[in-house]
Amino acid sequence: MTSASPVLVRMHPANNVAIVGNEGGLPAGTLLAEPATGLALRERVPQAHKVALVDIPEGGAVTRYGVTIGHALRDLPAGSWVHERVLRMPPARGLDGLPMGLGASTEASTVEPLQGYTFQGYRNPDGSVGTRNLLAITTTVQCVAGVLDVAVERIRRELLPRYPHVDGVVALEHAYGCGVAIDAPEAVIPIRTLRHLALNPNFGGEVMVVSLGCEKLQPERLLPPGSLPLRVLNADTVAADDPARPGAGTPEAPYSHVCLQDAQHVGFGSMLNAILATAEQHLQRLNARQRETVPAGELVVGVQCGGSDAFSGVTANPAVGVCADLLVRAGATVMFSETTEVRDAVETLTARCASAEVAQKMVAEMAWYDAYLQRGQVDRSANTTPGNKAGGLSNIVEKAMGSVIKSGSMPISAVLSPGERATNRGLIYAATPASDFICGTLQLAAGMNVHVFTTGRGTPYGLAECPVVKVATRTELAQRWHDLMDLNAGAVADGQCSVEVMGWRLFHLLLEVASGRRTWAETHRIHNQLVLFNPAPVT
Ligand code: CA
Repeated sequence: MTSASPVLVRMHPANNVAIVGNEGGLPAGTLLAEPATGLALRERVPQAHKVALVDIPEGGAVTRYGVTIGHALRDLPAGSWVHERVLRMPPARGLDGLPMGLGASTEASTVEPLQGYTFQGYRNPDGSVGTRNLLAITTTVQCVAGVLDVAVERIRRELLPRYPHVDGVVALEHAYGCGVAIDAPEAVIPIRTLRHLALNPNFGGEVMVVSLGCEKLQPERLLPPGSLPLRVLNADTVAADDPARPGAGTPEAPYSHVCLQDAQHVGFGSMLNAILATAEQHLQRLNARQRETVPAGELVVGVQCGGSDAFSGVTANPAVGVCADLLVRAGATVMFSETTEVRDAVETLTARCASAEVAQKMVAEMAWYDAYLQRGQVDRSANTTPGNKAGGLSNIVEKAMGSVIKSGSMPISAVLSPGERATNRGLIYAATPASDFICGTLQLAAGMNVHVFTTGRGTPYGLAECPVVKVATRTELAQRWHDLMDLNAGAVADGQCSVEVMGWRLFHLLLEVASGRRTWAETHRIHNQLVLFNPAPVT
């Protein structure tokens, strides 16, 4: 994109503002092009920021995405820079009287299935499909993390070279497990998150637990309700005779447990040996697995954004929305999340739910989050960051309208509470905070096997548990971060391709990545930590 000819992007014919596309912005006096030919800029407007296309009087509505994102705090003559300091944010819509569950009757629900697309994945005993073949080690408490880190380093160095079909070893570490009100009602969220994390499709159905011994989060709490309790196993006795456990009847069971306080462990070296010996039994089974051709419908794609700018809602997020529709048509599961970033679109979301029951759960999740924020004496406006505003996003309403486009247009088949595991296919709303790490962790718990992450300001985000495909909203970012961004959706703003073409490009890229192609974050081993969502008290 050159700065010679002004580029303006207007997303919707009803909008009275447009976005400056030029790198470096445009100086005062610039004569604008479509859709405001002949209009002169009254002041300098940075890239990705908004320009008033018509005179907007004090109190007048500023519309982007065809919705009111704010009201003018003073007269804004045509050609003015419209930013967060001249806008008053509208209040959130109440949760009463929403259109509930019309999704099944919408046009989108009758769209033709998309057939014939496949990827190379790992089939698991529970029916899920992995895109990676990882040994994951679940922890009950932060106390074990230091010992486990040493053990994992040794597993990586000494054991993994002997098991070339295993992609890596991951310690599922967290700050939970003790010093917490474990029986508080909302403790159910971090506990079920940990339980479901261990069952992520990329871990091959193998569950290895390392515990301390005296912690509140005893390993039994990590089992699904109704399961038999975990046996306390040492390295030599990995048992297999619990009929209720997946994998029972095979020579070795997929569950194992090393407890550091066990009397048999004499010193640090003994703990390490036990962890390594137990890990090796899992590695042997994982190493025997092979990729096979599976339908694209086995993908469980989590989408989220981070470090957003005003282009997020113009290029990357709409392309993700197109891709989400393709995935749903192919029978896959697509999760979108980030409650504070979709709250302002609640009316369209409840309408898109496939049934009144699903819409009711959507409303319940929004209401729970409203109350959660209120407890902290803030509201959804606490979401936007200085970077968002510098990137042209005036407030959470504008950010939300650009964020929710990632969900595409399909009916919403289910709503998950934080930490729940997806059991439906199709488009799912997985309620999570917008925090990148908490959202990613909860989507992993929900069963995500590929992650799509859009960014405009730029974030090097990556997860050890699952490939993360990062999509840049602007060409300048994609070029500057050429070895961090996996796809440049900025080509849409440059006029090089349509949003539809970019959506297809992402769809094909996801199938390649699911089949084993490494993302940039995987190549560089960029791994952010898991972060649990714990709304319950710490003691
Ligand atoms: Ca986020």
